Amino acid sequence: MGDVCRIAILGSAGSIGTQALDVLAHLNREHAEGRWATRYEVVGLATGRRADVLAMQAQHWPEATLALRDAAETSLPRAAITGADGAERIVRETKPDLVIAAIVGFAGVAPTLAAVELGIDVALANKESLVAAGDLIINAAQRTGAQLRPVDSEHSALWQALAAAPRAHDAVMPVPPLDGVAVGVRRLILTASGGPFRKTPAADLYNATPAAALDHPTWDMGPKVTIDCASLTNKALELLEAHWLFGVGPDRLAVVIHPQSIVHSMIEMDDGSVIAQLGTTDMRTPIQYAITHPERAQAPVSRLNLAEVGRLDFEEPDHERFPALRLAERVMRDGGTAGAIFNAANEAAVEAFIDGRIPFGRIGELVRDALDEVVPQAASTLDEIKEADSRARAWVSERLRRGR
Ligand code: MG
Repeated sequence: MGDVCRIAILGSAGSIGTQALDVLAHLNREHAEGRWATRYEVVGLATGRRADVLAMQAQHWPEATLALRDAAETSLPRAAITGADGAERIVRETKPDLVIAAIVGFAGVAPTLAAVELGIDVALANKESLVAAGDLIINAAQRTGAQLRPVDSEHSALWQALAAAPRAHDAVMPVPPLDGVAVGVRRLILTASGGPFRKTPAADLYNATPAAALDHPTWDMGPKVTIDCASLTNKALELLEAHWLFGVGPDRLAVVIHPQSIVHSMIEMDDGSVIAQLGTTDMRTPIQYAITHPERAQAPVSRLNLAEVGRLDFEEPDHERFPALRLAERVMRDGGTAGAIFNAANEAAVEAFIDGRIPFGRIGELVRDALDEVVPQAASTLDEIKEADSRARAWVSERLRRGR
């Protein structure tokens, strides 16, 4: 392990971005006190519109080049790159050792792909990169040797559990070759909290309010991700992410509802063993592991006390009330631009729901209909992915404009 690791954080003002900076500050304190070999230098900070947060972060991390997409504000302590391609320019201009890709939504795809194409390792929190452009990103990673390190708690758990299957583990992380996960591993089982509507009857679910959907029982995340949790679309996106990251199809991926969010995910081996990773619901653990991998450092997180938790419950997901999981299987089978359409239609529908323009139940219907009507096609460039993304968004707007 080198002495200095240069890091760029894309989406630094968001939930994962701010927690990643907390983790880096903590690791640097550990370094200063001689308990951790590496010192971390934040060389780039990119954010969308939260100039106030970026200004504070810029003061803490004086070496960081700054990017602010919406440059309405001038209160930053030093000049920032502005415009829509700011995050991507941070990657190209600072050439860090590790990119923490924590932009929420499709906007995170281009900078992630840019990093992977440059052979830079990526701690990946942006789901859309793999959901919409999985083929491009995995191909680029295989070409350049860039490592994809999952930040999402479920994928981090699968990654950690795969250490129990050494040949599979070596083969999938770093990425090539993807079919390596077949060695000794039967299924990857993602856990889902079930969200705030786990027990809500179908009749009430359709007209659930944004306030109710934003009330997540276990994890603290941003609004878009929290709505996706309420519809289980977040889990659908995670299935697609796992599909690309670990190179497995729908027949070898499963979801189990686990309301306590203590078991973060597990792998079932060919010999019947199931290896799980457990922990408290603190994103700093998977964020830190993505940074320190393959080593582990002390973390200031609360410790898991299973006796205090008392019991762990598991149940099958209800596909009738939550159609998103089946849609994810369909997206895996369709391939091409299906992931981009699925994601874009969902982003547009969630936005309309948060704005109070559609009821909760419309989100899933719009995504399903978009997959039917914006027909998925093969794609080999980011432009083709972007085009599918735009077409799906336009399709949703048009549908909403006509009030259907
Ligand atoms: Mg997750």
